[in-house]
Amino acid sequence: MGKIIDVKFTLKEYSYEKPFHIVGSISNGTTNIEVELTLDNGAKGYGEASPSFRVNGEKVEALFEMQNFIRETIMGIDVRNYRRIFDLTDKMFATPSLKAAIQYAALDAFSVETDIPVYQMLGGAKDTIETDKTVSIDILENRVKEAGEIYRDGFNFIKIKVGENLQEDVEAMKGIYEVTKGAKYVVDANMGYTPKQAVEFSKKVYSLGIDISVFEQPVVASDIAGLKFVRFNSPFPVAADESAHTKYDVLELIREEAVDYINIKLMKSGISDALAIVEMVKAANLHLMLGCMAESSIGVNQSVHFSLGTGAFDFHDLDSHLMLKEKTFRGKFKQKGSEMVVED
Ligand code: MN
Repeated sequence: MGKIIDVKFTLKEYSYEKPFHIVGSISNGTTNIEVELTLDNGAKGYGEASPSFRVNGEKVEALFEMQNFIRETIMGIDVRNYRRIFDLTDKMFATPSLKAAIQYAALDAFSVETDIPVYQMLGGAKDTIETDKTVSIDILENRVKEAGEIYRDGFNFIKIKVGENLQEDVEAMKGIYEVTKGAKYVVDANMGYTPKQAVEFSKKVYSLGIDISVFEQPVVASDIAGLKFVRFNSPFPVAADESAHTKYDVLELIREEAVDYINIKLMKSGISDALAIVEMVKAANLHLMLGCMAESSIGVNQSVHFSLGTGAFDFHDLDSHLMLKEKTFRGKFKQKGSEMVVED
């Protein structure tokens, strides 16, 4: 038996090693919710919600108050029937990070009970992935220095935050390229450009001979036509991040032919919608990357197992645990530089 007999929420605070600066936001840390499920056989499962007000409109205080509702909803259900838990929590579109944590905690408890790792329960497609590391917005000198350090540390994929100042961003790309030749770049404007600025940025970077593997969310989330404009007027593949939360958002992006990539984050979609999005994007012959909010190692663990299980992702931006101060690493995977590995 694997019936849920207890659901516990715990608030967890983490601070960044250094302030994290993206368009319109400088963050010093995060307050996450850890979800612990206990089964009648004693097995425990863990999940983590890293709420985002900027992206999801979530407030951690409000999410924490949902503890009793969640308890009433899933208590007594056997995790062997985890689809029932997914279906009962499917409508948590306003609190997707909590949806992810609960759904993953059910998988984790099932995994502990059966001694089958979650990535194998989800398909076991891969046993290793490689993450990028992020260069946040800063003065030119610091952006170049940080990128150089990341590359020297063995990260072949570098994520570069842009979108506050087009000219400075182009200069940063040029400077970063000089010290990281051979690296691949995922460039994220976090909605900071207008469609015209995004195309101008792309063309300037292209004319410098620099390739961008994925150009993420160049324009505001609601501007689907703007995404499409950038997609068809710039030389680089365009990704939706802030525009893509639920499976319904992704359906529209596919219908509108607005993007080349969807950036799935479990914190925006939960596990159930993320599984649906994987199949939808494959069916549309588009591409996937996997990102994170401000998860600690226990939250990034969820994404590592999701990616290894489905094997569906071209790029991984799973570096929040590398940027947060954390006393103990708690992932059920090994971090070897940029590599994330599950070993039997
Ligand atoms: Mn993004």
